[in-house]
Amino acid sequence: MRKPLIAGNWKMHMTSAEGCGLAARVAESCVGLTDREVLLAPPYTMMAEVARVLEKSSVIISSQNICWEEKGAFTGEISPVMVKDAGGSGAIVGHSERRQIFMETDNLVNQRVKGALRFDLLTILCIGETLEQREGGETNAVLEAQLRRGLEGVSSSDMINVVIAYEPVWAIGTGKTASKEQAQEVHLFLRKLIAEIYEKNIAEQTRILYGGSVKPTNVDELMAQPDIDGALVGGAALDAESFGRIINFES
Ligand code: 13P
Repeated sequence: MRKPLIAGNWKMHMTSAEGCGLAARVAESCVGLTDREVLLAPPYTMMAEVARVLEKSSVIISSQNICWEEKGAFTGEISPVMVKDAGGSGAIVGHSERRQIFMETDNLVNQRVKGALRFDLLTILCIGETLEQREGGETNAVLEAQLRRGLEGVSSSDMINVVIAYEPVWAIGTGKTASKEQAQEVHLFLRKLIAEIYEKNIAEQTRILYGGSVKPTNVDELMAQPDIDGALVGGAALDAESFGRIINFES
């Protein structure tokens, strides 16, 4: 049985004080929820402070990206050891903003995935097609390439720490959500691919999140789909009330 995971990606938003305030409210929204997991990915500068606020809660702290090395000359990067030192236990990798704005390739993303796993971080590998690719009928081919390349060299036993996030680029920050049918179709396709790359029981255990304009008004129907195991939330995760409702989805 896959435990649903609701993840909030704060991207490049908020001061530490604002982040700590929001984290405290998220913790309140999680009280009594044992049938699902909640994760927050704050900016690096506030990660340790936010982790302290969440000390008594079960909310998982994640970085928004990760380097594969423990330390060294990697200006601008953050190492898995640093993330752990700041109270984190997860990492988002391959977000479309990293791929599109910062030109991160599948190969780089794969190195990051393997680095995060080497340090036992819960690793959220993001994949997603652009509008142009969807309209050109390339969705499945693009997703298959991103998934296969992102997971290259990742063993079956490491898959326990891997979460896949399907985030159609055209749905991120646009208010356009993939319909529940569109999302379910892709999630099923991805699960079958994971079964092909690994085996059926790995595919059954792997959580596949949907991301892209998830809101209080659409979370329930998305979460009711059999192959949608959670959400990766951007904009709505910055508002305590909205994210609280998303965490408390009903299905
Ligand atoms: P929005 O929820 O703002 O569309 O962002 C989704 C996202 O990119 C989460 O990583």
